[in-house]
Amino acid sequence: MISLTARNFAWNSAMKRAALWVILLTMPVRSASVPHNSRPISTTQLADTPEVRSALAWFARNVAWINEQQIRLTEISAPPFQEAQRAAAVKTLLASSGLEVQIDKTGNVIGELRGANEKEIVVLSAHLDTVFPATTDVKVRREGERLLAPGISDNGTGLAALIAIARACHEAHIHPRRSILFVADVGEEGEGNLRGMRALIDGYKPKLKAVIVLDGSGTDHVTTKALASRRVEATITGPGGHSWSDFGMPNPINALVRASVRFINTKVPVTPRTTFNIGQIEGGTSVNSIPYEAKLKVDIRSESEDELGKLESALRECIAAGVRDEMESARDRTKGKLEWKVDLLGSRPGGELPANSALLAALRSADEYVGTQSRVERSSTDANVPLSHGIEAISIGAGGTGGGAHSLNEWYEPVGRELGLKRALLTLLGVSGLAEEKAR
Ligand SMILES: [Zn+2]
Repeated sequence: MISLTARNFAWNSAMKRAALWVILLTMPVRSASVPHNSRPISTTQLADTPEVRSALAWFARNVAWINEQQIRLTEISAPPFQEAQRAAAVKTLLASSGLEVQIDKTGNVIGELRGANEKEIVVLSAHLDTVFPATTDVKVRREGERLLAPGISDNGTGLAALIAIARACHEAHIHPRRSILFVADVGEEGEGNLRGMRALIDGYKPKLKAVIVLDGSGTDHVTTKALASRRVEATITGPGGHSWSDFGMPNPINALVRASVRFINTKVPVTPRTTFNIGQIEGGTSVNSIPYEAKLKVDIRSESEDELGKLESALRECIAAGVRDEMESARDRTKGKLEWKVDLLGSRPGGELPANSALLAALRSADEYVGTQSRVERSSTDANVPLSHGIEAISIGAGGTGGGAHSLNEWYEPVGRELGLKRALLTLLGVSGLAEEKAR
């Protein structure tokens, strides 16, 4: 009985739907109708649906609001491992856009827009953290159209876009086919070592179909190749002593300097492009003490994992040699010897998006629609993690123009930011798809 009733009901609705289609099809219609099959639809078809049209129009009307959110979030400092306060503000904003929002164990803010097919997920993300310590003045200054503050563009722009796109989808009643997760993640910069994105991928990997990372401003590039990198710290320790009375004792700073000179003379290939940077050096307690410790932080990057490995080995050899040189030249070895170690602070995996991927096709199609062009780049971003797992991922700018990233003179100009927002939204919906009519 029950099944019969259910079947009758289904039959009735099917009849009603069919009748509605007859009416629709016989009516003179101006705009293209919504495609009803599940194959990917073109950006033009997508942008022609009333909901998407309304979401696209939302951006231009709300630029002032979007700029305000960017300023507000930028003014909440968010160094790596201290993103909680900014995360709470983003959570409130995403929740006010009708999303179910939670903060996971790692500190990522995750807002879900449920799709008709919840077994498949697409992520739109922007990192919360900045490179600036908590003591940095992050008050936003204005000079005409220009906004100035550390972190205003990287990643104030990405976060503002994340919130704007979530709100546009909500106001326009967009129902995606695949579920969309709007994610503000922790730990993208420096020693955060992509921990937020790593946790996200660990949690959702079986369902994840694509990841779109919003990082900084611009509309002219797309990162499809993950630059592999390692961050290492070398530490040399010794007994330490008095500059005058203990002269001749092995000195960790001397050893570190000897090691550094050797290391910076290492030859690296132009192709595959391979780079290194001694970014931090510290040690010693006073000018008239032989230090007991000296440290060095080095960032190593390469288009090739092989070269990365070679360069890390070279660094270890140079540190060992620097220590050996210092010990050999020490006049008084009876007062102790030097020890050394090299620790891995972080390692970012490499990977590459296939040229024929659906995600890249969606971006290209969105580019064509809004009139932008994307230069393909290799870089180190949150997209490294999904790419290294074979999950389709890109990192793009979120519109407007900016500069001085990672410096105190960082700036952002929101002029034309709608273009970046439209490009990101159309790419997102290009891979999530829209739910079929009956499910909407
Ligand atoms: Zn960034």
